[in-house]
Amino acid sequence: MAYGFDTLQIHAGARPDPATGARQVPIYQTTAYVFRDAEHAAALFNLQEVGYIYSRLTNPTVAALQERVATLEGGVGAVCCSSGHAAQIMALFPLMGPGLNVVVSTRLYGGSITQFSQTIKRFGWSATFVDIDDLDAISAAIDDNTRAIFCESIANPGGHIADLDAIAKLADSAGIPLIVDNTSATPYLCRPFEHGATLVVHSMTKYLTGNGTVTGGVVVDSGNFDWSASDKFPSLSAPEPAYHGLKFHETFGPLAFTFHGIAIGLRDLGMTLNPQAAHYTLMGIETLSLRMERHVQNAEQVAGWLESHPTIEAVTYAGLASSPYHDRVARICPKGAGGLFTIALKGGYDACIRFVDSLELFSHVANLGDTRSLVIHAASTTHRQLTPEQQTAAGAAPNVVRISIGIEDAEDIIADLDQALTKAHG
Ligand SMILES: *Cc1c(COP(=O)(O)O)cnc(C)c1O
Repeated sequence: MAYGFDTLQIHAGARPDPATGARQVPIYQTTAYVFRDAEHAAALFNLQEVGYIYSRLTNPTVAALQERVATLEGGVGAVCCSSGHAAQIMALFPLMGPGLNVVVSTRLYGGSITQFSQTIKRFGWSATFVDIDDLDAISAAIDDNTRAIFCESIANPGGHIADLDAIAKLADSAGIPLIVDNTSATPYLCRPFEHGATLVVHSMTKYLTGNGTVTGGVVVDSGNFDWSASDKFPSLSAPEPAYHGLKFHETFGPLAFTFHGIAIGLRDLGMTLNPQAAHYTLMGIETLSLRMERHVQNAEQVAGWLESHPTIEAVTYAGLASSPYHDRVARICPKGAGGLFTIALKGGYDACIRFVDSLELFSHVANLGDTRSLVIHAASTTHRQLTPEQQTAAGAAPNVVRISIGIEDAEDIIADLDQALTKAHG
């Protein structure tokens, strides 16, 4: 397909409804699908034929969204899930097992740090946290039981940009996949597969839907990983007892991970996205590039203004020439460094609390990537479960406030920040 991004964000995965000709993807608010006959049913259940059985596994509205996101990321397939966190478990599920580990960045969304440092232990999995800019530390952390490296392209909350090419090389030489959480960047700003990533996960709750109406996630597969090159990934390369000894990689080739995600992951973990949510996300993605352009344009203007404000100690936006990550923008996210960054206030924790309480246009919420400008004091909220060391490593120290720049008029955003900073330091 030779279409450009702006065309694909509207058309990929969507075709006139075969029954009615409806131009927009209908919401198939449906659970089960009638089999043509018993033979058809058996073929579907044996994965010999692709089709709709039951909406825990597949649904036409969700399928359209899967195709759209996979296309925008340049992948071969995608599995939608009920949240970004569900997508992270779904991405790791075929790779991991008791005693196995994943090497993850210290600079992750706070909820992901908790998921990886605490909750996955219940499955017998573990995570080794490393500074993702320290390539030697990544190499040192990889051992025989490591099954993936996980990082964010543009990190929440700090907006730090990971050197995906260099990290992918390390993953490659270890024979393991690099999984990139591309939530803050979106495929419009960053395409991790072009930098060697194997899998991409998203919280679609954020920019993809874009307006705070949905909780959803997705795992996208590049189709580029050879799951049979070693015996590290038996879920994908070895016979699957629940499908009469079928081998996913041998049978489905580059679509092995996607088929496994649907046929085993959604079937047995049940973290399914509902069709209504898929519909809202399809709507949102139609304007993704336009919104991201404005998010970036506003963020550049606001970050520049904040940087020279006397009450501000630091602004982490990678789009600023002063950022140590500025060099990576052109290579990793050439259309801009996103709309998310943090500011450190000279007045410390108390000034942050007064600042957040004084904002009027900004909403104080645990979300990002909305059309609206949003703010949160991470240390007292999203990153509250972390130790002070983890908070600082994650870019969420007590004097730090996370800002998600919306697509309102930049002058209005700046005026609101200005009055709140004055009150915070008054
Ligand atoms: C919000 C977020 C998640 C979790 O997504 P949910 O949809 O809230 O489960 C994961 N990663 C990043 C970068 C996020 O911002």
